[in-house]
Amino acid sequence: AADLRSILLEINKEAAKYYHYQLKTPKGSDAYKYFLDRSLTDEIITKFGLGFSNRTSDDLYKYLKSREFSDSLLKESGLVSFDNKGGYDRFHNRAMFPIMDVRNRVIGFGGRVMGEGMPKYLNSPETKIFDKSRNLYGLNFARASRKPDVIICEGYMDVITLHQAGFTNAVASLGTSLTSGHAMLLRRYTKQVLLAYDSDTAGIKAAVRAIPILKGASLSVKVIDMTPYKDPDEFIRNLGKEEFAERINKASNSFLFEVRVLKSKFDLADPEEKTSFYNELAKKLLEFEDELERNNYTEAVAHEISISYESLKKLVNKTALTYDPVKFKESPVSETVSFKKE
Ligand code: ATP
Ligand code: MN
Ligand code: MN
Ligand code: MN
Repeated sequence: AADLRSILLEINKEAAKYYHYQLKTPKGSDAYKYFLDRSLTDEIITKFGLGFSNRTSDDLYKYLKSREFSDSLLKESGLVSFDNKGGYDRFHNRAMFPIMDVRNRVIGFGGRVMGEGMPKYLNSPETKIFDKSRNLYGLNFARASRKPDVIICEGYMDVITLHQAGFTNAVASLGTSLTSGHAMLLRRYTKQVLLAYDSDTAGIKAAVRAIPILKGASLSVKVIDMTPYKDPDEFIRNLGKEEFAERINKASNSFLFEVRVLKSKFDLADPEEKTSFYNELAKKLLEFEDELERNNYTEAVAHEISISYESLKKLVNKTALTYDPVKFKESPVSETVSFKKE
C-alpha cells in the first residue's frame, strides 16, 4: 500500500498545481482578488501555493483524468466523488489552501467560500495520506524556520498572515481541536509553544482544552492575548507586527491564564461564589506536586487575585489534607483561614 500512498500524494500535488494555476486565469480572478483584499502578497500566495477551485462541477476531475489517474484512485484521494452519471469535484468556487506535511508534500486541502456561505471552510476528508490528528498546517515552514518556539493558532489565514509578518513559526490544526498526536509532533521540533487562539468564547475554550494536552507532551505553554481583536490575522492587519511581537513578549504563563478563566466563571461579589472560587483555586494549585513550584505559583496567583500569600498558602495546605492527603504530607493546619484584601 506504500504504492497507493505515493499515487495519492501525486494526485494531490497535481490538484494543487491545477488550483494554483487557476488563480491567474480570468475564472480565478475573484479568488485572486479575495486573497489580495485579505492583504496577502504574491510572494506569500506562491509560498503557500494558494489557489482556486472553479464553479464547474467536474473541472478538476477532467484534468486529473487527462493525467491518467483511475476513477478508483481519484475516489481514494477524496477530491472527487462519484455517482452513476460521473465524477464530481469536492471543491467548487472556493479559495484553496493546500495542506502540506513536514516534508512539503501536499496531503489535502482546505477551501474557503469567498464571502459569506456555509460551510465557511471545507476540508479534504481523511484519506490514506491525510490524517488530521497527525499534521499541522504550516509546520513544514515553521520547522525550517528553526525558531526556538512555535505559535499555534486556529486558522489557515492566521498562519499565512503570521508568516507574511515574519512569524514563520506559526502553525494551526486542520479544522479540528488539538490532539496529543499534534503535541507529540510539535515536541520533535520545540519545547515552547505560544497559543494564539481566537479571543472569542470558542477560542478560550479551545485554549483551555489544549493546555493540558501540550503540557502532557512536556511542552511549556504560554498564551498570547489577542484582545481587542478576534484572531492573529485581524490583530496584525490592525495593529501590525511590532505590536504582535510585543504581545508575544507579554504572553501569559498558561497556569495563570487558566486561573483567569476559572475566576471569570464566578461572581466574586457573592461571598458563596467567592468561597467556591478559592476552593477550586486551592485544588488547582495542588496540581503542582513539587512544593517549591507550588509555593511559587501560590505566590503568583495570590498576587494576581490580590490576597495575601500566607492566606492562600494556608488554604492550599488545608485543602491538601482533604483533597489528597497521601500525596501532600504537610503538617495539619487547624486554624480557620481568613482572607484579607491587602
Ligand atoms: P477567516 O479569517 O477566513 O474568516 P478563520 O480562520 O478566522 O477564518 P474561524 O471561524 O476562526 O475562521 O475558524 C478557524 C479554523 O477552523 C479555520 O481556519 C478552519 O480550519 C476551521 N473551520 C472553520 N469553520 C469550519 C467548518 N465549517 N468546517 C471545518 N473547519 C472549519
Ligand atoms: Mn475561531
Ligand atoms: Mn480570521
Ligand atoms: Mn478566527
